[in-house]
Formats: sequence, C-alpha cells, structure tokens
Amino acid sequence: MKHVEFFEELNKEDVAIAGGKGANLGELTQAGIPVPPGFVITSRTYDQFMKETGIFDEIMDILDATDVNNNTELQKAAKDIKKIINETEIPDEIKIIIIESYNALCHRIGKDDAFVAVRSSATAEDLPEASFAGQQDTYLNVKGEDDLLTYVRKCWASLFEARAIFYREENNFDHSKVYIAVVVQEMVEAEKAGVMFTVHPSTGEEKILIEAAWGLGEAVVSGTVTPDTIWVDKQNEEILDYQVSEKNIMFQKDPEAGRTVKIPVPDDLKSKKVLNEEEIAELTGLGKRIQDHYDFPQDTEWAIESGKVFMLQSRPVTTLGKVAGKETGGEEVERVIITKGLGASPGKASGKVKIIKDTSELDKIQKGDILVTVMTTPDMVPAMKRANGIITDEGGVTCHAAIVSRELGIPCVVGTGDATKILKENSVVTLDGNKGLIYKGKIIEEAPVKEVETGGPTVVQQSILTVTEVKVNVSMPEAAKKASETGADGVGLLRTEHMMLTTGVHPKKFIVEGNEDELIKVLVENILKVADAFYPKSVWYRTLDAPTDEFKSLKGGEGEPYEHNPMLGWRGIRRELDEPEILKAEFKAIKKLHEQGYTNIGIMLPLVQHPDELKRAKEIAREVGLKPQEDIEFGVMVETPAAAMIIEDFIAEGLDFVSFGTNDLTQYTLAIDRNNENVADLYTEKHPAVLKLIERVIKECNKAGVKTSICGQAGSMPSIVEKLVELGITSVSANTDAVATVREVVARVEKKLLLKAARKIMQE
Ligand code: PEP
Ligand code: MG
Repeated sequence: MKHVEFFEELNKEDVAIAGGKGANLGELTQAGIPVPPGFVITSRTYDQFMKETGIFDEIMDILDATDVNNNTELQKAAKDIKKIINETEIPDEIKIIIIESYNALCHRIGKDDAFVAVRSSATAEDLPEASFAGQQDTYLNVKGEDDLLTYVRKCWASLFEARAIFYREENNFDHSKVYIAVVVQEMVEAEKAGVMFTVHPSTGEEKILIEAAWGLGEAVVSGTVTPDTIWVDKQNEEILDYQVSEKNIMFQKDPEAGRTVKIPVPDDLKSKKVLNEEEIAELTGLGKRIQDHYDFPQDTEWAIESGKVFMLQSRPVTTLGKVAGKETGGEEVERVIITKGLGASPGKASGKVKIIKDTSELDKIQKGDILVTVMTTPDMVPAMKRANGIITDEGGVTCHAAIVSRELGIPCVVGTGDATKILKENSVVTLDGNKGLIYKGKIIEEAPVKEVETGGPTVVQQSILTVTEVKVNVSMPEAAKKASETGADGVGLLRTEHMMLTTGVHPKKFIVEGNEDELIKVLVENILKVADAFYPKSVWYRTLDAPTDEFKSLKGGEGEPYEHNPMLGWRGIRRELDEPEILKAEFKAIKKLHEQGYTNIGIMLPLVQHPDELKRAKEIAREVGLKPQEDIEFGVMVETPAAAMIIEDFIAEGLDFVSFGTNDLTQYTLAIDRNNENVADLYTEKHPAVLKLIERVIKECNKAGVKTSICGQAGSMPSIVEKLVELGITSVSANTDAVATVREVVARVEKKLLLKAARKIMQE
C-alpha cells in the first residue's frame, strides 16, 4: 500500500486505503465524471504516523480508561488525544511524500501553492463500508506546505472527536481498527453549490432532489442556510418543482486571508433562484450517470465555478434500504446520529421536528411533535406539554427546558449548539434523553405515553422506610398529583415562577394596577393544589426567583431591565426585598392557606447572601401576620458560596432549615454559567469546592439543630445523595422520576452506616 494515491489510481474497491470519500472520488474520476483533481494520503500513512511516533499506545490507554457515558471524561479524553496528535511531529519520510504530492498537484493545476480542500475519510478494518459520514473534519482553502501538514494532522486528530469516539463505542467498532485517510483536492471557488440525491431520499421514488445555495457547499451541508429545493422527474428530466428560499448567508474564500468566511448574501441574490434550467439539466444528467455507474442511488455534493459543474463527492443513499426494512417490519433502522447535546430528561422520543423561533410559532406544535428551539421559555410550557420531546441549542442540565421536561416526564436534550440549524423542519428524528443524542428517523416503535394532568402510574415504594426524608421537587402545580404518588415525604422545593408565568402577566402589573387580590388568588389556587396533594406532609414554598430575562415576555414585563448576566443580576430574595409588594402578596396567600388549615406549608428564600436578607424577609412575614419559626417553618436556600461560608450568622439570625440549591451553588462556586453549553463540560456538582461548602453547612446546622436538605439537581444524583446521607443531611428532595432510586440509595446508605456502627460497637 502506498502512502499517497492520486484519484486516477483509485477506485471504489479502495475503501480500506482511501476511506469511502477517497475511493469514490477515484471511482468518479476514472468514470469520467468532472471531479477537481487531487490525491489521498492513505490510511497506511496514518497508521505509520501513529505507530512510528509511539503515540498509538498512549492513545489506546487513554481510551481504555475513559467512560464514554461520562461526558466530562469523554470530552477530556477527546481533547487530550487531539492535542497529542496535533503536537506530534510527522516523520520526515511521510512529510516528504505529502509535500511532493502537493507540489505535483500544484503543477498540474498550474499554480504555485494552490488552494486545496483537506478532507478526512475514515475507514474501519473489519467493516470498510461502515458510514462515518460527518464525523470527521474538512478544511477548506488550505494553502502551502506548512498549512497542509498542519491540517492533515488535524484530520487525523478528528478521528478522536468526542462524538466519533462515542459513535464507535456505541456501534462496537474497535478504536484500534479504525483508520483515517485524508483527501487533498483542488479547491473549487464555488459560486453556487449544494447536494443532489439521485432518488427521493426517504421514499426511494424516481425523482432527483437538488438543494442549492450561493457560495461554497458548506452552507447547505452544515444546514446554515435553507437552500433552494428542486425536484426533477428522473425519466423525462422535467423540473417538477422549484422552491426558492431566502438565503441569507454564504461561505466564500476570503481573498485576503485565504480562509473560508461566512458573509451575508447580497440583497439582490437572497430570493433569487440559484440554478438556471441548463444547470439543473446538467446536474440531472450527471446524477443519472453516477447512479448508473454505481448501479445504486447516490447522495452527492456538487459545485459550480465559472459555469463549470464539478462533483465533489458521491456515496450511496443510506436511508433507503433501512426505511424499507422498517416498513416491512424488518430490522431496526440504522442509528445515524445527527447531533449531540446533554441528556436532560430521560427517555427516548421520536416525532416531527418543529423549530420554534419565538412564541408566536407555538401553535405549530401538534401532539407528538419534537419541539426544537434555541432555549425554552416559560410561556412555551403549554406547547412543551403537547410535544413528544424537546431539543434546545443552549442550556445545561439545570436550565429551564431541563427542569420543566423532567417534571413533565418528556425526554429532552439541551445544549446541542446547533439543533435549530441542523435539523430540518418536519423531518423525523429520535432523541435519547439519557445519552443526549439525536438520531435521524424513527428508531423506536412508540413514543412514551405521558399525561401530565392525570399522571401516568408512578412507582410507589412506601414500603422502604428511611430516616433521612426523601422529598420531591414541584415546579408545576398540575404535576403535584403525580409527584405525590411517588410516596415522597413532602415537597422540598415548590417553585413559584411557573405559577406566575402561566398568568401571562408580570406580578408587578397586578400590584401597580391595584389587583393585589387577584395575584393572591392565583397563588392560593396554585399552592393549594400542591399543599392538598401532600397534606399533612410539609411543602416548602420558595418565594419568587424571577430572573429579568425570563419575565420580560410577560404582559407588563416590558420594563424589565436589560442585564448582561441575569444569573448574577436582579433575582431571588434581593429582588423581592426591592419589590416587597410581591413578597407580601406571596406571604398573604400562604397566610390564607394556613388559616384554611394548610399549616404544612413552609417558606424558603432563594439566593440569600447575607443574614440581613433573612431578617428583613421575616419582618415582612410578620407584617402580614405570619409568625416565622413559631407557626410556620422558615428557611433559606444555600445557593451562594457567601451563604455557605457564613451559615453560622444565618443560624444566629434564626431559621428552621436550609436547602442546598446546588444548581446555583455550583455555578457561583465554579464561575460557570449553568445555562451556557460552551462550559457545560466543566459544570459539576461533584467539584470538591462545592462539596466542601455543603459539608461545612451540614456540620454547622447539625450542631445548631437546624434541618438541612437539598433541592438542586444533585439531589437526584445517587453518588452525591450517598455522600450527603453520610454527612448527616436531614432530607433530600429529588425530581419526580428520581424519587424511587434516591429512596433506595438513602436506605442502603443508612443500613451501611448502621452496620458500620454496630460492628464498631461489637469490636469494642
Ligand atoms: C438550585 O439553584 O439548585 C435550585 C433548586 O433553584 P433553581 O434551579 O430554581 O435556580
Ligand atoms: Mg436556584
């Protein structure tokens, strides 16, 4: 096997050495299809680089030690391996061959230092035909020997992108038997480009589908623009339909830097047809020739430069046979991963993608659809309830979409970064809310049944008795019944925000317009649903924690100030003390319920950072006739490092309980915005600094007889719960779906502690 092969020397049988992409470019070239000239740095070269430099073993050791289901570990392994490859010098023998081939290509094109595209082309030893499409990198507009070598190494490294590693583990590919070839090809300065399927990609009908946009094809392939869509009858080559779309963005080579840049499409081209009839006819002809050549429907990429059509890639349409198999009740459809994010609410769901840009589009969501949006807002909740699954671009596992989905029992993946761009409206996808993956097509038979109002059956395990109470979190009062069926020992967190947001009116507007009574009525009705479902078990009502960005869309919310970082801004108790009328209305609602006998309701203050805040809130409670710590339980959330570090001062001020809001405590301790998917891999409640703060608070509170609890997401994580029980926490409040597991964990740790104590006594 040679280190480098020019396209003329390759054919479709050469997948093992040139990867699928390289072998096909060779095959097309040999079949006389217009392909920009180029060569392939074969898989042997990659193998030699890995083995000769000694990095192969090092990389395999990292992979062996990595749990790919642990995102932090997976990301770290990918980063470390890529760094090793990118920083390892290419042996001279290989370097010389690559440079000589590049110079030969430049000579052929007739330019010194020609611009080339450098594309990776993966292949597996046992299964060379396996599809690794889209998993490895492509670099455009690379020029000169040094850059070429840099990007070749980057292509090799791209074999170890986190999602590629994950994909191989999921599909049982041996990492050591997957190779990568690199295609180096003359760069086409495309004025227009796109993709072409030689049959209907999902039904297999004899129609050609062309998607076209301005500039380089990346815009279409990456889904950055909605391209023009053209359907052509394959028999008579008649244009059946031409849908022109608005194309706002295009990719081009920056003439100065030589790199690819994303630029706005000139106004006169935005809504103009990309392809004329001759170009469509030429593409159709080429499509038919390519399909005939391979004797199988093809999925191709094309580009047009100075009126000349080039084919850049061709591969078999992979969806066809699989879809047919499914229809005939055959094997499960192949799992093609489209994108990946963070698993935020467990379960799998499939349905039609509906991309929601703003709330005016919510009606698009029909029962069973998949709601895809940048980030959910509280006014999307009714549509979220109709959806089978939820996918967001932004957010971490404690963002709004995540919290609400968990409570609704709807599978959810957050923080994909690109779902609204990559997923196509009305296409069918399946999401896996455990693994955080989005697959093409429907890969499960039925979506999980979910009925929030009536509540599906929930595992009730009252037979397990624990001393440490296991409570549940409630954000939507309509989910209270389902939450209570878990047999939880109470509600460790009743969030208020949702109650307020469902009114569609900013709470301040009620007050300003003299409608305090109405606000109190809304609160009473909602809190009652929860207090009633759990009576006589305690329900800790958390006073309003209203971030300015979330409340802006409400009627009367126009005046919400713009904040650069709402997470560090005007929210929680600090805001309520500035707007005491709202806090007072909340306290009055609770007072009313107490008078009706619902004395199981306690009060919890969010985001405190100084005991003065507790003091002032208690004074306001007294003003409305409540008696904190006498006739009503009063406590604070520990969500700031400040509160944790001076918890003694809060205890001295007087309180019945504290509850760890680890979602916030983690973000404030680690300086990691909990809603920012770019730093989500660093976000962990298990960070020693977070655990240290928790430990000191539990110790101090236990000394003073103050109850401790947890209501952040970490309260649903077995490994953290285990630690908290060992530290002596009084209760743990989990999400509805996690209560049963958490109860088992608590029971097991308690038994373990008892056993340990008993053994110690026996030894003495
Ligand atoms: C927390 O911060 O952990 C918490 C429970 O509050 P929220 O998620 O509502 O900010
Ligand atoms: Mg919080």
